[in-house]
Amino acid sequence: MSNATEAPILVMGAMDVETDYIIGKMTDVKQRMIGKWSFASGLFEGRPLVVCRTEWGVANASACTALAMEAYHPCAVISQGTSGAHDPELLNYDIVIGKKTVNTSAWKSHFEPQGSVDDPTNIEAIGVFAYDKHAGKFTQEVYHYASKRLLAAARKAEPTYTRGHVVEGTIGTCDTWNCQVDRVLFLHKFFESSVEDMESDAVAQICQTYDVPFLAIRIVSNSVFEGDQDWDLRVGPVCQEFVLNVIRNIEL
Ligand code: SAH
Repeated sequence: MSNATEAPILVMGAMDVETDYIIGKMTDVKQRMIGKWSFASGLFEGRPLVVCRTEWGVANASACTALAMEAYHPCAVISQGTSGAHDPELLNYDIVIGKKTVNTSAWKSHFEPQGSVDDPTNIEAIGVFAYDKHAGKFTQEVYHYASKRLLAAARKAEPTYTRGHVVEGTIGTCDTWNCQVDRVLFLHKFFESSVEDMESDAVAQICQTYDVPFLAIRIVSNSVFEGDQDWDLRVGPVCQEFVLNVIRNIEL
């Protein structure tokens, strides 16, 4: 059963086109700024929800997540929105349910002297630091894994989606927009990433620190495998509609 006194689910999106559709489906909406970031709290079908517009990139996404943890104490967090395909099979409107996320800029390269051949594969993924409750300290992990319960809710919502395919995969995050096909293929092979965005793993990192269940859901808005195309922002509301179907299925 749901009521307004239970802890809210927090939904993050970077832009209005990634957040407005959900806010439009909520009742009793209260808008609030914390710092320069906007938060909308209210109810969706009787269930408390907070929607945060993070703005672009990992620093903004992690700042918003930490602020929301302190202000709203969410019971679950979903990072959702647009993304670029890493998997050549994926097309615009396909949706990736993130079984795991990874920061694709967290590398350690091995020493190569000046003038040596630049071998892009001579690097190691080292991950990012988040608090590990079992270790009792901040530890470094390459991948952050989705909450099993949130993943189960997303699986239940899958049959409702008719605009494209829904796949489960890995979502790669960093402050980079990759348009070089070879670079994208390298990342796809190295991390087994399905898509790239600029927020999800940053949100996952803070969720691990706060020990709050996390899931990333991303819709493809652009693919280098389709040529030099712009991103199609019409996918934003479509992704949010799917996210609402996931929320309907969340049992916490
Ligand atoms: N188009 C702008 C950058 C947009 S920022 C430019 O070229 O400067 C990108 C936003 O869209 C982020 O919130 C990110 O999560 C998402 N996104 C969509 N497709 C992406 C891609 N191919 N790579 C990285 N981020 C992408």
